[in-house]
Amino acid sequence: MRREKLRELSPLDEPAAPQDLRARQLRARDLLRGDLEGPELERHVEESVLATTLRRALSWGRANSVFPATFGLACCAIEMISLVTPRYDIARFGAENMRASPRQADLLILSGRVSIKMAPVVRRIYDQMLEPKWAIAMGACSSSGGMFANYAVVQGADKFMPIDVHVPGCPPRPEALIYGINKVQRMIQGNPDPGWRRRYNAIGTEEWARGGVAEPTEAELAAYAAARERLGA
Ligand code: SF4
Repeated sequence: MRREKLRELSPLDEPAAPQDLRARQLRARDLLRGDLEGPELERHVEESVLATTLRRALSWGRANSVFPATFGLACCAIEMISLVTPRYDIARFGAENMRASPRQADLLILSGRVSIKMAPVVRRIYDQMLEPKWAIAMGACSSSGGMFANYAVVQGADKFMPIDVHVPGCPPRPEALIYGINKVQRMIQGNPDPGWRRRYNAIGTEEWARGGVAEPTEAELAAYAAARERLGA
């Protein structure tokens, strides 16, 4: 197909005329000099100024430059490894920079079953990561022990470290893990997706449900009410 025809089909890709760029440059210069006034100034500000807070800008940057630790535990790791291939291309979400040192990573993906013997090692790696940090339990095994209901495997990684997102499946497909990473990104930006907790009106119940105490304390009740209010439940 000829180049002209291609251009015809995608007119939005047409480069802007050089005089347009010059006009914008002159407008920006006038703005800096303080020569722009009235509707011209308003239009320029609307077109080119984005206002936000430092905290939001910081979390936007963090969410889009997650450094996962290069760490695999079992079969799920093969799916995790494929994230960086062109087919799944985790670079689209800025998380392709897998780090071999926990001190340079801020996301730990537990990709596979955690044996009792391995749990202290995993915990040490997590502790060595610098704050702020996040963790994903990938697959049935690291989330709940999966099919290994026996003495050798930890029945859920949240028994020995905090987990932010659980990705179900055996193994979860790379797309599912990407979805989990997207959820972590939303958490980093202060906009977590409560998912089923919102649907089943269960926000905040997990803090004492697994703790072994029969009744929640006053502080837990207050935290529960605050969490529900924050999430609009
Ligand atoms: S969830 Fe399935 S694929 Fe993943 S580690 Fe367990 S057995 Fe292997």
